[in-house]
Amino acid sequence: MTGVMKAVVKIAPAEGCLELQTLPIPEPGPREILVRVKAAAICGTDVHIRHWNPWSQARISPPVVIGHEFSGEVVEIGSDVHTVRVGDRVSSESHIPCNNCQICHEGNRHVCPHTKCIGVHQDGCFAEYIVIPEEIAFVYNDPALPWEQLALMEPLGVSVHAMMDVPLTGKAVAIIGAGPLGQMGILLAKLSGASRIIVLEPNTARRKTALQQGADAVIDPVSQDPVEAVLHLTDGCGPHVAVDFSGSTAGLTAAMSYLRPEGRLICVALSDKPISVSISDFGYRGCSIRGIAGRRMYENWEEMRGFLALGLDLSSIVTHVLPLKEFSQGIDLTERGECAKCILMPQ
Ligand SMILES: [Zn+2]
Ligand SMILES: [Zn+2]
Repeated sequence: MTGVMKAVVKIAPAEGCLELQTLPIPEPGPREILVRVKAAAICGTDVHIRHWNPWSQARISPPVVIGHEFSGEVVEIGSDVHTVRVGDRVSSESHIPCNNCQICHEGNRHVCPHTKCIGVHQDGCFAEYIVIPEEIAFVYNDPALPWEQLALMEPLGVSVHAMMDVPLTGKAVAIIGAGPLGQMGILLAKLSGASRIIVLEPNTARRKTALQQGADAVIDPVSQDPVEAVLHLTDGCGPHVAVDFSGSTAGLTAAMSYLRPEGRLICVALSDKPISVSISDFGYRGCSIRGIAGRRMYENWEEMRGFLALGLDLSSIVTHVLPLKEFSQGIDLTERGECAKCILMPQ
């Protein structure tokens, strides 16, 4: 396809420097597809890219089109594409593993050390069109799932990865942080049959949303002692699983105290702030800590299909929808935590 498109470009390696530009529509290679973007979701990563934090500095070489969570319609396929057709509704993995290293060969592509990310290492989806490799397209042709929700498959996959790490049926689970991924975690825990869902969240509006989404109890960890409150809600034993979506040092430290013996602390928000752990206290109780990176390709994608088939409804996560040209306002809302997910519409 020839022509031009609008795209949000990180134009220089410095604070800010995001601009809506007109660029040529990209061309797919033999094993790539061209997607007309229908909806794109703003992520915390996009906020970091705007601020040009150390994480961004280490990975991004401007100019690059940002954005990595989207849905769209396939409009062109490369000559060697076999699993995706023109007209398919797709969402996408954001990670492109190398497929050639030992880690990939062991089946752990989601932690491939050579992973490239769309919207980071190569052009992303805050644009009218994007080219992606066929292998990362998630085809989902049921029109009952609106484009705005189909755009959330990438973050949903992270939440699924975390919430499926330990079987939750009949178990008590603590969810630390009720931002968009934590909210997805609440919905998933409910559908998984968790016996008790306890949410720790300092933001009043988010606590209210958590209750509407199926949390059995919410705790404000600022005004209440989280350890005491969680133990009280779990007959003094603590939850079997605690899933941290906050990266908060206080939240993680409290979780290590209230976690049930043989329990697991699952870390989704991978904060770089060091925390101290008493190995004897944690270890004698037989607890474990697990980090969650990306989505297992493709197990978590199939589990997402399963949850959608079970009736997973992400409509409460989509709180704002803006035209692409108002990307800056959307990133502001995301940074201030005033939205769950803000969606940009390029068309
Ligand atoms: Zn993201
Ligand atoms: Zn690899």
